[in-house]
Amino acid sequence: MDDLYKILGVDKKTDVSEIKRAYRKLAQKYHPDVSGKKDAETEKKFKEINQAYEVLSDPQKRAQYDQFGSVGNGPAGPGGFDFNGFDFGNFNGAFDFGSSFGDIFSSVFGRGTRRGSAGPERGDDIEIAINVSFEESVQGTEKPIEYSRLILCAHCKGKGAEPGSKIVTCHTCQGTGQQIRVQRTPLGQIQTATVCRTCEGSGEKADKKCAKCHGEGRTHERNRITVRIPAGIFDKAAIRLNGKGEIGRQGGEPGDLYVHIKVTPSREFERVKDDIHTTRKIHVLQAILGDEIQVKTIHGDAALKIPAGTPGGKVFELKGYGVPKVGAGTKGDHFIKIDVEIPTKLSKKDRELYEQLAKDAKLNIKPQSKGFFN
Ligand SMILES: [Zn+2]
Ligand SMILES: [Zn+2]
Repeated sequence: MDDLYKILGVDKKTDVSEIKRAYRKLAQKYHPDVSGKKDAETEKKFKEINQAYEVLSDPQKRAQYDQFGSVGNGPAGPGGFDFNGFDFGNFNGAFDFGSSFGDIFSSVFGRGTRRGSAGPERGDDIEIAINVSFEESVQGTEKPIEYSRLILCAHCKGKGAEPGSKIVTCHTCQGTGQQIRVQRTPLGQIQTATVCRTCEGSGEKADKKCAKCHGEGRTHERNRITVRIPAGIFDKAAIRLNGKGEIGRQGGEPGDLYVHIKVTPSREFERVKDDIHTTRKIHVLQAILGDEIQVKTIHGDAALKIPAGTPGGKVFELKGYGVPKVGAGTKGDHFIKIDVEIPTKLSKKDRELYEQLAKDAKLNIKPQSKGFFN
Protein backbone atom coordinates (compact mmCIF):
# COMPACT_ATOMS: atom_id res chain seq x y z
CA MET A 1 0.00 0.00 0.00
CA ASP A 2 1.35 3.43 -0.91
CA ASP A 3 1.73 6.02 1.79
CA LEU A 4 -1.83 7.25 2.16
CA TYR A 5 -0.76 10.34 4.08
CA LYS A 6 1.52 11.34 1.23
CA ILE A 7 -1.27 10.84 -1.29
CA LEU A 8 -3.46 13.33 0.58
CA GLY A 9 -0.48 15.57 1.36
CA VAL A 10 -1.05 15.43 5.11
CA ASP A 11 0.98 14.04 7.98
CA LYS A 12 0.28 11.32 10.53
CA LYS A 13 -0.98 13.72 13.20
CA THR A 14 -3.51 15.46 10.97
CA ASP A 15 -7.05 15.33 12.37
CA VAL A 16 -10.12 14.17 10.49
CA SER A 17 -11.47 17.61 9.58
CA GLU A 18 -8.10 18.57 8.09
CA ILE A 19 -8.03 15.30 6.16
CA LYS A 20 -11.49 16.04 4.82
CA ARG A 21 -10.34 19.47 3.64
CA ALA A 22 -7.24 18.05 1.96
CA TYR A 23 -9.34 15.39 0.30
CA ARG A 24 -11.92 17.88 -1.02
CA LYS A 25 -9.23 20.07 -2.49
CA LEU A 26 -7.51 17.18 -4.24
CA ALA A 27 -10.73 15.51 -5.31
CA GLN A 28 -11.87 18.71 -7.00
CA LYS A 29 -8.57 18.96 -8.79
CA TYR A 30 -8.62 15.38 -10.02
CA HIS A 31 -12.32 14.57 -10.33
CA PRO A 32 -12.81 13.63 -14.00
CA ASP A 33 -16.02 15.66 -14.26
CA VAL A 34 -14.68 18.70 -12.44
CA SER A 35 -11.19 18.82 -13.84
CA GLY A 36 -12.33 18.00 -17.37
CA LYS A 37 -9.33 15.68 -17.67
CA LYS A 38 -10.15 12.11 -18.57
CA ASP A 39 -6.65 10.72 -19.08
CA ALA A 40 -5.54 7.56 -17.34
CA GLU A 41 -3.07 9.37 -15.09
CA THR A 42 -5.73 11.69 -13.66
CA GLU A 43 -8.11 8.80 -13.21
CA LYS A 44 -5.50 6.79 -11.36
CA LYS A 45 -4.66 9.74 -9.15
CA PHE A 46 -8.33 10.31 -8.38
CA LYS A 47 -8.76 6.68 -7.44
CA GLU A 48 -5.75 6.83 -5.11
CA ILE A 49 -7.11 9.94 -3.42
CA ASN A 50 -10.43 8.24 -2.82
CA GLN A 51 -8.81 5.12 -1.45
CA ALA A 52 -6.60 7.14 0.87
CA TYR A 53 -9.59 9.12 2.08
CA GLU A 54 -11.67 6.01 2.66
CA VAL A 55 -9.04 4.69 5.07
CA LEU A 56 -7.86 7.88 6.77
CA SER A 57 -11.37 9.25 7.38
CA ASP A 58 -12.39 6.10 9.23
CA PRO A 59 -10.81 6.01 12.71
CA GLN A 60 -10.75 2.23 12.86
CA LYS A 61 -9.26 1.73 9.41
CA ARG A 62 -6.81 4.53 10.05
CA ALA A 63 -5.63 2.89 13.27
CA GLN A 64 -5.13 -0.39 11.42
CA TYR A 65 -3.26 1.35 8.67
CA ASP A 66 -1.05 3.23 11.14
CA GLN A 67 -0.16 0.04 12.93
CA PHE A 68 0.15 -2.42 10.09
CA GLY A 69 0.61 -0.34 6.96
CA SER A 70 -2.41 -1.86 5.31
CA VAL A 71 -6.10 -2.45 5.85
CA GLY A 72 -7.94 -5.72 5.47
CA ASN A 73 -10.73 -5.80 2.94
CA GLY A 74 -14.05 -7.05 4.12
CA PRO A 75 -14.95 -9.80 6.53
CA ALA A 76 -13.21 -13.13 6.85
CA GLY A 77 -13.94 -15.54 4.05
CA PRO A 78 -16.20 -18.59 4.20
CA GLY A 79 -15.23 -20.76 7.10
CA GLY A 80 -13.22 -17.88 8.52
CA PHE A 81 -13.34 -16.72 12.07
CA ASP A 82 -14.58 -13.32 13.05
CA PHE A 83 -11.91 -11.72 15.17
CA ASN A 84 -13.51 -8.35 15.69
CA GLY A 85 -12.73 -7.28 19.19
CA PHE A 86 -9.98 -9.84 19.62
CA ASP A 87 -7.43 -8.45 22.00
CA PHE A 88 -3.87 -8.78 20.79
CA GLY A 89 -2.34 -7.02 23.75
CA ASN A 90 0.84 -5.16 23.14
CA PHE A 91 2.68 -7.86 21.30
CA ASN A 92 3.73 -6.62 17.94
CA GLY A 93 6.46 -8.89 16.73
CA ALA A 94 6.76 -11.78 14.35
CA PHE A 95 8.89 -14.85 14.66
CA ASP A 96 10.18 -17.06 11.95
CA PHE A 97 10.71 -20.68 12.87
CA GLY A 98 12.19 -21.80 9.62
CA SER A 99 10.63 -24.94 8.27
CA SER A 100 9.54 -26.68 11.44
CA PHE A 101 6.87 -24.23 12.52
CA GLY A 102 4.72 -21.59 10.94
CA ASP A 103 5.45 -17.94 11.51
CA ILE A 104 4.00 -16.36 14.60
CA PHE A 105 2.10 -13.16 14.18
CA SER A 106 0.24 -10.84 16.44
CA SER A 107 -2.29 -9.55 14.01
CA VAL A 108 -5.09 -10.56 11.73
CA PHE A 109 -5.26 -7.22 9.97
CA GLY A 110 -4.14 -6.40 6.51
CA ARG A 111 -4.40 -9.84 5.06
CA GLY A 112 -7.67 -9.41 3.24
CA THR A 113 -7.80 -10.72 -0.28
CA ARG A 114 -8.76 -8.61 -3.22
CA ARG A 115 -12.03 -9.54 -4.81
CA GLY A 116 -13.52 -8.77 -8.15
CA SER A 117 -10.46 -8.74 -10.37
CA ALA A 118 -10.19 -11.01 -13.35
CA GLY A 119 -8.02 -14.08 -13.44
CA PRO A 120 -6.61 -16.22 -10.67
CA GLU A 121 -6.77 -14.76 -7.21
CA ARG A 122 -5.05 -15.80 -4.04
CA GLY A 123 -7.48 -17.59 -1.72
CA ASP A 124 -8.62 -16.11 1.57
CA ASP A 125 -6.80 -16.71 4.79
CA ILE A 126 -8.62 -18.66 7.47
CA GLU A 127 -8.49 -17.75 11.15
CA ILE A 128 -9.16 -20.26 13.86
CA ALA A 129 -8.56 -20.13 17.61
CA ILE A 130 -7.47 -22.94 19.90
CA ASN A 131 -7.05 -23.21 23.65
CA VAL A 132 -3.76 -24.37 25.07
CA SER A 133 -3.15 -25.16 28.73
CA PHE A 134 -0.41 -23.33 30.59
CA GLU A 135 1.65 -26.53 30.80
CA GLU A 136 1.29 -27.12 27.04
CA SER A 137 2.35 -23.55 26.32
CA VAL A 138 5.49 -24.11 28.37
CA GLN A 139 6.43 -27.57 27.11
CA GLY A 140 5.15 -27.27 23.54
CA THR A 141 2.65 -29.69 22.11
CA GLU A 142 0.89 -30.91 19.02
CA LYS A 143 -2.79 -30.19 18.51
CA PRO A 144 -5.00 -31.92 16.00
CA ILE A 145 -7.41 -29.43 14.44
CA GLU A 146 -10.24 -29.75 12.02
CA TYR A 147 -11.68 -26.90 9.99
CA SER A 148 -13.63 -26.28 6.83
CA ARG A 149 -11.96 -24.81 3.78
CA LEU A 150 -12.54 -24.33 0.08
CA ILE A 151 -10.64 -26.57 -2.28
CA LEU A 152 -10.61 -26.84 -6.05
CA CYS A 153 -13.79 -28.49 -7.34
CA ALA A 154 -12.76 -31.86 -8.70
CA HIS A 155 -15.83 -32.14 -10.94
CA CYS A 156 -15.16 -29.03 -13.07
CA LYS A 157 -11.44 -28.72 -12.25
CA GLY A 158 -12.16 -25.28 -10.82
CA LYS A 159 -13.67 -23.84 -14.01
CA GLY A 160 -17.22 -23.62 -12.62
CA ALA A 161 -18.75 -24.97 -15.83
CA GLU A 162 -20.43 -28.33 -16.10
CA PRO A 163 -18.07 -30.40 -18.24
CA GLY A 164 -19.28 -30.32 -21.86
CA SER A 165 -21.54 -27.24 -21.46
CA LYS A 166 -21.76 -24.46 -24.08
CA ILE A 167 -20.17 -21.02 -23.72
CA VAL A 168 -22.64 -18.08 -23.92
CA THR A 169 -22.52 -14.29 -23.41
CA CYS A 170 -22.60 -13.21 -19.75
CA HIS A 171 -26.04 -11.80 -18.83
CA THR A 172 -24.82 -9.72 -15.91
CA CYS A 173 -22.52 -7.50 -17.99
CA GLN A 174 -23.94 -8.18 -21.46
CA GLY A 175 -20.53 -9.38 -22.50
CA THR A 176 -18.62 -6.21 -21.53
CA GLY A 177 -16.88 -7.90 -18.63
CA GLN A 178 -17.52 -4.84 -16.47
CA GLN A 179 -19.99 -3.79 -13.83
CA ILE A 180 -20.72 -0.15 -13.03
CA ARG A 181 -20.72 0.76 -9.38
CA VAL A 182 -22.06 4.06 -8.02
CA GLN A 183 -20.23 5.47 -5.03
CA ARG A 184 -21.35 8.36 -2.83
CA THR A 185 -18.65 10.85 -1.88
CA PRO A 186 -18.78 14.37 -0.40
CA LEU A 187 -18.62 15.59 -4.01
CA GLY A 188 -21.61 13.63 -5.18
CA GLN A 189 -21.90 10.31 -6.95
CA ILE A 190 -18.93 8.75 -8.65
CA GLN A 191 -19.22 5.87 -11.03
CA THR A 192 -16.54 3.27 -11.06
CA ALA A 193 -16.29 0.27 -13.31
CA THR A 194 -15.34 -3.01 -11.71
CA VAL A 195 -14.74 -6.39 -13.19
CA CYS A 196 -17.96 -8.39 -13.65
CA ARG A 197 -18.19 -10.98 -10.90
CA THR A 198 -20.37 -13.35 -12.81
CA CYS A 199 -17.91 -13.92 -15.63
CA GLU A 200 -14.74 -12.62 -13.91
CA GLY A 201 -14.34 -10.13 -16.74
CA SER A 202 -14.33 -12.57 -19.62
CA GLY A 203 -17.77 -11.46 -20.88
CA GLU A 204 -18.88 -15.02 -21.36
CA LYS A 205 -19.77 -17.98 -19.25
CA ALA A 206 -20.85 -21.56 -19.49
CA ASP A 207 -24.59 -22.08 -20.00
CA LYS A 208 -24.57 -24.83 -17.40
CA LYS A 209 -22.96 -24.34 -14.03
CA CYS A 210 -21.03 -27.18 -12.50
CA ALA A 211 -23.48 -29.37 -10.64
CA LYS A 212 -21.05 -29.94 -7.77
CA CYS A 213 -19.89 -26.39 -6.98
CA HIS A 214 -22.71 -24.39 -8.65
CA GLY A 215 -20.20 -22.44 -10.70
CA GLU A 216 -17.97 -21.39 -7.84
CA GLY A 217 -15.15 -23.67 -8.96
CA ARG A 218 -14.48 -24.56 -5.36
CA THR A 219 -16.06 -26.91 -2.86
CA HIS A 220 -15.85 -27.19 0.91
CA GLU A 221 -13.87 -29.88 2.61
CA ARG A 222 -13.09 -30.71 6.21
CA ASN A 223 -9.37 -30.47 6.65
CA ARG A 224 -7.63 -32.26 9.51
CA ILE A 225 -4.10 -31.29 10.37
CA THR A 226 -1.81 -31.35 13.37
CA VAL A 227 -0.44 -28.02 14.51
CA ARG A 228 2.88 -27.99 16.28
CA ILE A 229 2.81 -25.54 19.16
CA PRO A 230 6.38 -24.49 20.02
CA ALA A 231 7.50 -24.57 23.65
CA GLY A 232 7.17 -21.10 25.14
CA ILE A 233 4.30 -19.94 22.94
CA PHE A 234 2.66 -16.90 24.45
CA ASP A 235 -0.99 -16.08 24.88
CA LYS A 236 -2.58 -14.32 21.89
CA ALA A 237 0.14 -15.40 19.49
CA ALA A 238 -0.88 -16.75 16.09
CA ILE A 239 0.81 -19.45 14.08
CA ARG A 240 0.69 -19.15 10.33
CA LEU A 241 0.51 -22.28 8.22
CA ASN A 242 1.33 -21.45 4.64
CA GLY A 243 -1.14 -22.55 2.01
CA LYS A 244 -3.60 -24.12 4.46
CA GLY A 245 -6.30 -21.48 3.80
CA GLU A 246 -8.88 -21.33 1.03
CA ILE A 247 -7.79 -22.24 -2.47
CA GLY A 248 -7.88 -19.20 -4.78
CA ARG A 249 -10.54 -18.58 -7.41
CA GLN A 250 -9.69 -19.68 -10.93
CA GLY A 251 -6.81 -21.76 -9.72
CA GLY A 252 -5.21 -19.02 -7.63
CA GLU A 253 -2.79 -20.00 -4.89
CA PRO A 254 -4.27 -20.88 -1.51
CA GLY A 255 -4.39 -18.46 1.40
CA ASP A 256 -2.86 -19.23 4.77
CA LEU A 257 -4.28 -20.63 7.98
CA TYR A 258 -3.78 -18.57 11.12
CA VAL A 259 -4.11 -20.50 14.34
CA HIS A 260 -4.65 -18.10 17.23
CA ILE A 261 -3.45 -19.35 20.57
CA LYS A 262 -5.31 -18.76 23.81
CA VAL A 263 -3.31 -19.88 26.81
CA THR A 264 -5.25 -20.78 29.96
CA PRO A 265 -3.47 -19.05 32.86
CA SER A 266 -1.85 -21.14 35.58
CA ARG A 267 -3.03 -20.99 39.19
CA GLU A 268 0.49 -21.46 40.52
CA PHE A 269 2.75 -19.67 38.08
CA GLU A 270 2.59 -16.14 36.86
CA ARG A 271 4.29 -15.64 33.51
CA VAL A 272 5.86 -12.29 32.62
CA LYS A 273 7.47 -12.51 29.18
CA ASP A 274 9.69 -15.59 29.56
CA ASP A 275 10.05 -15.38 33.33
CA ILE A 276 8.01 -17.08 36.02
CA HIS A 277 7.04 -15.34 39.23
CA THR A 278 5.82 -17.08 42.37
CA THR A 279 5.52 -16.29 46.07
CA ARG A 280 6.69 -18.75 48.71
CA LYS A 281 5.67 -18.65 52.37
CA ILE A 282 8.32 -19.60 54.92
CA HIS A 283 8.19 -19.76 58.70
CA VAL A 284 9.76 -16.94 60.65
CA LEU A 285 12.25 -19.45 62.08
CA GLN A 286 13.30 -20.46 58.57
CA ALA A 287 13.80 -16.79 57.82
CA ILE A 288 15.87 -16.32 60.98
CA LEU A 289 17.89 -19.52 60.90
CA GLY A 290 18.05 -20.13 57.15
CA ASP A 291 17.03 -23.35 55.42
CA GLU A 292 17.18 -25.25 52.20
CA ILE A 293 13.73 -25.74 50.69
CA GLN A 294 12.21 -27.37 47.63
CA VAL A 295 10.30 -25.05 45.35
CA LYS A 296 7.95 -26.08 42.59
CA THR A 297 9.01 -24.82 39.18
CA ILE A 298 7.60 -25.43 35.71
CA HIS A 299 10.50 -27.85 35.22
CA GLY A 300 9.89 -29.80 38.45
CA ASP A 301 11.15 -29.27 41.99
CA ALA A 302 14.33 -27.29 42.58
CA ALA A 303 16.38 -26.68 45.73
CA LEU A 304 16.53 -23.13 47.03
CA LYS A 305 18.88 -22.01 49.83
CA ILE A 306 17.37 -19.47 52.19
CA PRO A 307 20.24 -17.70 53.97
CA ALA A 308 19.87 -17.01 57.70
CA GLY A 309 18.28 -13.62 58.26
CA THR A 310 16.22 -13.50 55.10
CA PRO A 311 13.69 -10.67 55.29
CA GLY A 312 10.13 -10.93 53.99
CA GLY A 313 9.78 -9.58 50.45
CA LYS A 314 13.24 -10.83 49.42
CA VAL A 315 13.26 -12.18 45.84
CA PHE A 316 15.41 -15.16 44.85
CA GLU A 317 16.19 -16.08 41.30
CA LEU A 318 16.46 -19.54 39.82
CA LYS A 319 18.34 -18.93 36.60
CA GLY A 320 17.10 -20.85 33.58
CA TYR A 321 13.98 -22.18 35.32
CA GLY A 322 11.66 -19.95 33.32
CA VAL A 323 9.77 -20.45 30.07
CA PRO A 324 11.67 -21.47 26.90
CA LYS A 325 12.17 -18.51 24.59
CA VAL A 326 10.38 -19.40 21.39
CA GLY A 327 12.85 -20.34 18.71
CA ALA A 328 15.88 -19.28 20.76
CA GLY A 329 16.85 -22.44 22.66
CA THR A 330 17.26 -20.52 25.93
CA LYS A 331 14.96 -20.09 28.91
CA GLY A 332 13.82 -17.26 31.13
CA ASP A 333 14.23 -17.31 34.92
CA HIS A 334 12.06 -18.14 37.90
CA PHE A 335 11.73 -15.45 40.58
CA ILE A 336 10.57 -16.47 44.06
CA LYS A 337 9.36 -13.81 46.43
CA ILE A 338 9.61 -14.77 50.09
CA ASP A 339 6.66 -14.20 52.36
CA VAL A 340 7.62 -14.66 56.04
CA GLU A 341 4.81 -16.14 58.07
CA ILE A 342 4.55 -15.09 61.68
CA PRO A 343 2.97 -17.84 63.81
CA THR A 344 -0.34 -16.68 65.23
CA LYS A 345 -0.85 -19.58 67.62
CA LEU A 346 1.79 -20.11 70.27
CA SER A 347 1.89 -22.96 72.72
CA LYS A 348 2.72 -22.12 76.34
CA LYS A 349 6.23 -23.48 75.78
CA ASP A 350 6.68 -21.49 72.53
CA ARG A 351 5.64 -18.35 74.31
CA GLU A 352 8.12 -18.91 77.14
CA LEU A 353 10.93 -19.49 74.67
CA TYR A 354 10.13 -16.33 72.72
CA GLU A 355 9.91 -14.33 75.95
CA GLN A 356 13.28 -15.75 77.00
CA LEU A 357 14.73 -14.68 73.65
CA ALA A 358 13.32 -11.22 74.13
CA LYS A 359 14.88 -11.02 77.60
CA ASP A 360 18.25 -12.22 76.29
CA ALA A 361 18.11 -9.54 73.62
CA LYS A 362 17.46 -7.04 76.43
CA LEU A 363 14.28 -6.03 74.70
CA ASN A 364 12.14 -4.42 77.31
CA ILE A 365 8.92 -5.38 75.55
CA LYS A 366 5.39 -5.55 76.84
CA PRO A 367 3.86 -8.72 75.36
CA GLN A 368 0.22 -8.36 74.31
CA SER A 369 -2.51 -10.89 73.76
CA LYS A 370 -3.96 -11.38 70.26
CA GLY A 371 -5.16 -8.31 68.44
CA PHE A 372 -8.66 -7.04 68.94
CA PHE A 373 -9.62 -7.86 65.35
CA ASN A 374 -8.23 -11.41 65.32
ZN1 LIG B 1 -17.31 -27.50 -10.00
ZN1 LIG C 1 -20.07 -10.70 -16.98
